[in-house]
This record gives sequence, C-alpha cells and structure tokens, in this order.
Amino acid sequence: RIVAIDGPAGAGKSTIAKALAVSLSIPYLDTGAMYRMVTYAALRDGIDLKNESGVADVAKRMNAVMSSDRFFVDDVDVTDIIRGPQVTEAVSTVAALSAVRNELRVSQRSWVENAGGGVVEGRDIGTVVFPDATLKVFLTASPSVRAQRRVAQSGGDVVVIEEQIRQRDHLDSTRADSPLRESSDSLFIDTTDLSIETVVKQIASSVNSIESKSNE
Ligand code: C5P
Repeated sequence: RIVAIDGPAGAGKSTIAKALAVSLSIPYLDTGAMYRMVTYAALRDGIDLKNESGVADVAKRMNAVMSSDRFFVDDVDVTDIIRGPQVTEAVSTVAALSAVRNELRVSQRSWVENAGGGVVEGRDIGTVVFPDATLKVFLTASPSVRAQRRVAQSGGDVVVIEEQIRQRDHLDSTRADSPLRESSDSLFIDTTDLSIETVVKQIASSVNSIESKSNE
C-alpha cells in the first residue's frame, strides 16, 4: 500500500501526508528532507554544488537517520537547520543532479520496501519513484496561499517567500531528471480553499475505494 503525494512547495503536502499516514496506519516518508540532508552535508563539507560526483559522494558517505519527526546527519540533529534559508536556497540545485537522485531513489525504494508501504511525499514519487503506487495525488494551491502558509509555519516576509517559492518551483519543474509534473493518472487537488481534514478524508476515501474495487 503506497500513496504517492507530489506537488510544489507549500501546497500542504507534509501536513496532509502525515495526517493521512496516521489515518491509514502506515508509515510516512518525507523525501524532500532527504534532498535537504544531502544539501546540508555538501554545504558543511564545502563541496561545490555543481560538482555532481562530489555531491553524490557526500550522499553516499553520510549517515542519514530519520526517526518519527527528527532528522540526523552523522549523529547531528539537523531537523531545524535543513529547513533554514541556506539549505532551502540550495536544495533545488542539489536535487537537479542525476547522480544524487539515483542514490536517493534507491534509498527511498528500499525504505518503503522495509516499511511494507507508506505515504511518500515529494516531487517525482508518482511519476518516477513509485509509478505503480496504489494512489497518486498531486496537490497544489495558489502561489500566494502557499507563501502565506510557509510564513505562518516558519516566519519571514510573504513577498520574499513567494518569490523564493516561485524560483524553487521553476528549478524543480524545468530540470532534466524527474521534473515536478503531474502524472496523468493522479488525483489532482487544489488545496487553496480546502481544510486539511477535507483533503485527508478525500484521499483516504479514494484509497479505500481503490482497494475495495481491487478486492472484488
Ligand atoms: O518538500 P521540500 O520542500 O522539503 O523539498 C525540498 C526540495 O527537494 C524541493 O524543492 C526539490 O528540489 C527537492 N525534491 C525533489 N524530489 C523529491 C522531493 C524533494 O527534487 N522527491
């Protein structure tokens, strides 16, 4: 049982994916955090972010641990720093490197296999990582609402944050390797005017109806 949730920054993916995982009683995987951990380690080691094999080596070497809601790189708790401005600004450059994506894709597949399924959140989960997921969801919201949500979560100036989100979405959707895009068979939900509860219920009921159909 795999639910793939993709979409641009600030669409509500993390909040919705976490609540959905609880409601379906399956684990939750935040793949954005994995790209953020690699970015953190590359910046820490002073690697030029255009040096693809150098950054991929960092990804291979680092010891990344994800517990329920904390993230550790080489035994350092990086939960807060990976959401900070330095990592956020650099992460899409790192995520465009195929050697890094190949590395993380393997980890994501084995994580889900070991966990026996999960709600997996990212940019290329339904299109590339788990094209055969039970259900693929594409979440979006208007750019200004996405910026307002980010500001409510982590502070900052809404105009500046909106511009940063636009730039990151642009890089994520125009890169050559597994760009952010909606898969043709995904459930598309615009969360601009919807509550978290409504979206979680809608996805959970889609999962249940798909599973009851396949059990008939
Ligand atoms: O979801 P989050 O904002 O934490 O993701 C951070 C970045 O990681 C994205 O902007 C994107 O560049 C990258 N990412 C990706 N593929 C994924 C998940 C995240 O390229 N599956």
